[in-house]
Amino acid sequence: MISVKGVSKQFGDYVALDDVSLEVPDGSLTALLGPSGSGKSTLLRIIGGLETADSGSVEIHGVDATNVPPQRREIGFVFQHYAAFKHMTVRDNVAFGLTIRRKPKAEVAERVDRLLRIVGLAGYAKRYPNQLSGGQRQRMALARALAVEPRVLLLDEPFGALDAKVRTELREWLRRLHEEVHVTTLLVTHDQEEAMSIADDIAVMDNAHIEQVGNPRELYDNPSSAFVMGFLGEVS
Ligand code: ADP
Ligand code: MG
Repeated sequence: MISVKGVSKQFGDYVALDDVSLEVPDGSLTALLGPSGSGKSTLLRIIGGLETADSGSVEIHGVDATNVPPQRREIGFVFQHYAAFKHMTVRDNVAFGLTIRRKPKAEVAERVDRLLRIVGLAGYAKRYPNQLSGGQRQRMALARALAVEPRVLLLDEPFGALDAKVRTELREWLRRLHEEVHVTTLLVTHDQEEAMSIADDIAVMDNAHIEQVGNPRELYDNPSSAFVMGFLGEVS
């Protein structure tokens, strides 16, 4: 479980996070949903250790993560614009984290094959990233983030740069991947349809705070404020 308690963050005078608390259940796919500028990425970056909070704490699986550097938090990241190694094949990109950890070749091959299969890229192992579509590239990014068996997967608008049709397909891939791999996943998105269709739980953010947390049904049936009702009803 990821447990965020009383986290605040300012950039100069600007309050980006105001006393935010959130529990992400073990093995869940939780969405952090809110309009642009509400503080989603800042919260995700603090959870991932890419940014430090001014106050408050982050625990990951019962361990205080405050002073743990990102590379030791056992976290996989996927961002909107994924930087793949252009000179490496899809297979080598996915294997990279395992190769640098000097895992046995057979183990690497088995794990990479399995992940490529799950994300539908088994037939693309020998291609290069620039021979993939945008959607395929983000699927490769998901496989690569999961290769090292992180305990937590943090996704920041991973499908945000893609067109609507591809985004819808990728939801299905992410859902399937999550069912196979069961890693605690936090998905940042401003797309209410995306959150409503794939998340177990949704934390709705507005203006530096979390407005409401619930499963899609609860949010839909009992929005706690006019903001939540209005935002869930918007079409992005
Ligand atoms: P979201 O991901 O919901 O769009 P962010 O967490 O990226 O929101 O940003 C929240 C607010 O904090 C925004 O107004 C943004 O301009 C500001 N902000 C984020 N990062 C920085 C930074 N490094 N320096 C100054 N302001 C920042
Ligand atoms: Mg953001």
